[in-house]
Amino acid sequence: MHSEGTLLDKYGRRISYVRLSITDRCDFRCTYCMAEEMTFLPRKEVMSLEECLRIATVFVGLGVSKLRITGGEPLVRKGAMWLIERLGALPGLENLVLTTNGSQLEKFAAPLYAAGVKRINISLDTLKADRFRAITRIGDLAKVLRGIEAAGAAGFRRTKLNTVMMRGTNDDEFVDLVRFAIDRELDISFIEEMPLGEILGRNNTFISSEETREMLKPHFELIPSAENSGGPARYWRVPGSESRIGFISPHSHNFCDTCNRVRITAKGELYPCLGQNDATNLLPALRAGNDDAAVRQAIVDSMGIKPFGHDFTQQMDSPQVIRFMSMTGG
Ligand code: SAM
Ligand code: SF4
Repeated sequence: MHSEGTLLDKYGRRISYVRLSITDRCDFRCTYCMAEEMTFLPRKEVMSLEECLRIATVFVGLGVSKLRITGGEPLVRKGAMWLIERLGALPGLENLVLTTNGSQLEKFAAPLYAAGVKRINISLDTLKADRFRAITRIGDLAKVLRGIEAAGAAGFRRTKLNTVMMRGTNDDEFVDLVRFAIDRELDISFIEEMPLGEILGRNNTFISSEETREMLKPHFELIPSAENSGGPARYWRVPGSESRIGFISPHSHNFCDTCNRVRITAKGELYPCLGQNDATNLLPALRAGNDDAAVRQAIVDSMGIKPFGHDFTQQMDSPQVIRFMSMTGG
């Protein structure tokens, strides 16, 4: 199952990509991601930044080459830059990337770039300020747009916008969002909403990637592309533009067979699959002492519980996974 320097699951898939949530907290409350009143983890249950660094270092020792920092909102974690600077200098970690809601990027874009972060994903579901406020329950669109500008000014290229598709909420803006991305040489990925956490009415708002592609076709010539960014998105290109239009389709195009990733929550649980409840708690091994061997062994053992896949489509209004996306890390 495991040879030196590689992590293989029981189906022979090589795990080379880890998504590490460094906080479950967030300065937004997006309706599809969180409940209005959220109870966050007590601080002592959250991994320290030193513990995050140790976990990442052990994974890199096991052959992981790509690490995404996520959350919650990773940039609201106090000291996040301390961790990111060290990760940026970690030998063997080829690809350090970040997912953010963009609210703090005006301040952090330049230091993130200097620390060696290769690429940023920024969530953006709408270009209308009032709608943005309704979806995020609290966010300020102008600040996020300034954050997107700041990322470009700091040197980030191919920054990717993530848009969750919601019928009746933002489906009249998909064309505008693609234009916005093309005009700024950004990529954009449309995400099918996933049934994570108990939020009612998801079946009414769900839109498939295919439906969105049909919506875009009268406005853009979409050319299928074989490109792969190491994630679950499938890409299309528009002639004359470098921008890629991606679709993350956990319902209509299940990507489990090539899954190369695991997720670590802010409290040190390793989730081998976003759509299943099985997890390994790495915290006891981390807090037992300074010896990384126990952490390494717990990670290697967790490969045995990585399931072949998930099925979200049956679960939109009765989720089997009751933790929110902000818990598992997007
Ligand atoms: N706060 C950061 C952000 O918003 O980009 C990082 C964490 S967030 C959980 C990561 C991604 O998950 C975001 O792009 C968000 O839109 C997406 N997301 C959250 N809940 C989702 C759901 N139920 N279905 C699909 N995508 C979801
Ligand atoms: Fe926060 Fe990101 Fe979830 Fe929105 S999607 S509530 S920004 S963690």
